[in-house]
Amino acid sequence: MKNTDLSDVLRPGCSPEEIALKSFFLGPQAENAPWLRELIRDVLDQWVHWRKDHYATDGRAISEADQQTPEFLRSVETFRNEVQEILHRFQSEVPNYSPRYIGHMTTEISLPALVGHMLTLLYNPNNISEEVSRVGLQVEKNAIGALLAMVGYDQSKATGHFTSGGTVANIEGALRARARMRNWIAAGASARKLQRYNGTVVEAAGMGWATYDQLMADPEIRSCRDEGTFDLLDKPFAAADAIRDVFGRSYRGPVVLVPGNKHYSWNKAVDILGLGTEAFTEVKTDELGRMDVADLDRCIGRARDEGRPVMMVISVVGTTELGEVDPIDQIAEVLDSWRENEGIDIWHHVDAAYGGFFCTLRHDESEEYLTNPVKHALRAMYRANSVTIDPHKLGFVPYASGAFLSGSVREYAYTRIKAPYIDFRSDDEPGLTTVEGSRSAAGAVSTWLTSRVIGFDRHGYGRLLARSVVAARKMGLGLADAHPWIRVNVARDTNIVTYCVAREGEPVSRTNARTLALYEAFSTEKDHAFFVSKTALSLSSYEALLRPYAGAWNAGWDTDTLVMLRMVLINPFLDTKETDISYINSFIEHLVASIQTRNELK
Ligand SMILES: *Cc1c(COP(=O)(O)O)cnc(C)c1O
Repeated sequence: MKNTDLSDVLRPGCSPEEIALKSFFLGPQAENAPWLRELIRDVLDQWVHWRKDHYATDGRAISEADQQTPEFLRSVETFRNEVQEILHRFQSEVPNYSPRYIGHMTTEISLPALVGHMLTLLYNPNNISEEVSRVGLQVEKNAIGALLAMVGYDQSKATGHFTSGGTVANIEGALRARARMRNWIAAGASARKLQRYNGTVVEAAGMGWATYDQLMADPEIRSCRDEGTFDLLDKPFAAADAIRDVFGRSYRGPVVLVPGNKHYSWNKAVDILGLGTEAFTEVKTDELGRMDVADLDRCIGRARDEGRPVMMVISVVGTTELGEVDPIDQIAEVLDSWRENEGIDIWHHVDAAYGGFFCTLRHDESEEYLTNPVKHALRAMYRANSVTIDPHKLGFVPYASGAFLSGSVREYAYTRIKAPYIDFRSDDEPGLTTVEGSRSAAGAVSTWLTSRVIGFDRHGYGRLLARSVVAARKMGLGLADAHPWIRVNVARDTNIVTYCVAREGEPVSRTNARTLALYEAFSTEKDHAFFVSKTALSLSSYEALLRPYAGAWNAGWDTDTLVMLRMVLINPFLDTKETDISYINSFIEHLVASIQTRNELK
């Protein structure tokens, strides 16, 4: 069946620009292979020239005679065979390039990204320092500049680096938030000891750079701080006692405020930093699964009353489960009011690992793709202290490519650890501040090439993501109409569709069993018609969303989580008109057939 039904209004017309998008990918049937092959051959040829042109008078190390010896030939033969073996094994890899793959946040990679990645591997720079990466590091700076511009940061003040992914980028944010807090507490405690400051520990922890600079300009405070008595990183236990003595209250450590929709990498971050799981405080989410801003304000107030500083507030752009966008603008307002009215400056990190690339649509006035609250949220990202963004998700870049962005060079360069064996030429060499040591330049070069070829704006990525939003909307509408038991979730800010399959009035545990059985049916099919993923939303994190949502079919809450099928609709060819199959319609037919024919689902 061709893709002809469902509201045509939602389909972007096939303008020449839309057709040009097809040059960015190999295509489900490797349609662009002929010219790609040529391009890759050129990449290899230039690599060969690079060698031949350097030290050309050195003479050959491997002679033609060497290459003809039986041992040499045998070892080449083994090599070829082993390569064939691995290639053979990879034939059964998950076909994540296919529009039939609508499971996790993985999809087709773009050709500019692939070629950027491949060519970097050939030159193999190590972006730990300029000593071992002449070009790679420059390209990384260019790529970071492009990401900063996309997010809306002032490039003259902001900075950042590439990481292996969102998890590490989040840890980079947490480390810096903690380092800033440690400095401010130590300055406040030192000044208090000298009776030149009378704030509480919570106020000290959020004193702001202006107060900090003012205190540190006093040589006595500075020397007291340098003694390290109040340094929670150098001497955590002794410093806690010393802090209790000057502030007159036990120091119970900071809290980290994260919304219930958080990614589990935040549990890892808190764990790795040794903050204690009690540091973790979940902010409630609202009826759309976004951070509840009023609850955020309450959580900050409660922490203050308990004498615990808020080390950082984390918000999410593109939640892992539902693709929701927290109200970054309103969160920034709450934090501004704490700064202005209470003198408490709190670090705000936006985890935009998934949704960061939607910034390319933040100035789109058409109202067609993103709602106004989402656009306002995206336009406020520059107000955060730091941002995580994963080109290896919506950037169509191969793994591993994540990025950590910081709005201020001062907050970015939080530590100065020297390695005696590396020649760090300037204070802003990456290896001094990155969590990782040796780092590939491949993720940065891929991202840079995509920014040049596809474009980090409305006309490039904006078009690709707009298509994915349209595909998700069509899928959502189609599913809701297809069968009375399919309950499509209302939370659909971006391109993720979630739903469960529930009968009127039944207990949630029964619905969960059916939804899980459907998931199993998809994943155990021999020919794998489609790939979907699943998730479970808990009442503790999503109460405001789940109660009315499941109330619509009078569900009985006999368990505290609702299992959902989850589909991430990123593939650029999902809604194409050319293929012989309509992926969206076929998926819906497939699902309905499963519901109707399987007895265990009744
Ligand atoms: C994917 C994701 C992460 C983790 O990123 P990795 O690249 O998998 O390490 C963190 N936060 C959010 C919101 C994500 O979607």
